[in-house]
Amino acid sequence: MQGFIININKVRDEDLIVSILTKDKLKTAYRFYGARHSTINLGYLIDFETQISVKSNIAQLRNIIHLAHSWNLDMDRFYFWQQFVKLFYGHLKDIENLDDFYFELLVNCAKKWQKQNPKRVIVEAYLELLFYEGRLHSLEECFLCEEKITSDEVALARAFLPAHTECIHNKGLKMPKLKKLFSTKQTILLDDDEVEYLYMVTQEGF
Ligand SMILES: [Zn+2]
Repeated sequence: MQGFIININKVRDEDLIVSILTKDKLKTAYRFYGARHSTINLGYLIDFETQISVKSNIAQLRNIIHLAHSWNLDMDRFYFWQQFVKLFYGHLKDIENLDDFYFELLVNCAKKWQKQNPKRVIVEAYLELLFYEGRLHSLEECFLCEEKITSDEVALARAFLPAHTECIHNKGLKMPKLKKLFSTKQTILLDDDEVEYLYMVTQEGF
């Protein structure tokens, strides 16, 4: 079975509780410390097996193979990836059975991670996820005061909820560019500062 490690908790000295996003589940498994074990890390795509033990209600993680991506060795890129997968854990941790959308989204992002700016990949994936979940709102109405947004700038809050810049006390981005972004889910028309703005919103969680 394959999956992305999206959370690791240390228990006792070196044992770990690992959360793995697979095609159809968020699996939780226990990993006993052992010097002969290969190292695992947050964000890794692994091939693995689990074994149910009589002593514990959590399955044991076994036969792990790291399916490495070339950028795993690039510290900066890998750090962004780890921050990114943590968002998935925060979002999915209470759901056991999942559609394969989430796993496939990470597979696709991992493929782009080497060549593209990770912040752009994150913003585009964030849009795809909101759209998939039916949470990508139109930019017409401020979610705070519920009045129409008629200015040419619109600010975005968590989950890209639109707001008047004066209601949310934050700067915004140009309406036409955001409209295009929301319909295409591509950041190509945005400059790096605009991508940075959107990236910062993504870090608040899905
Ligand atoms: Zn408002």
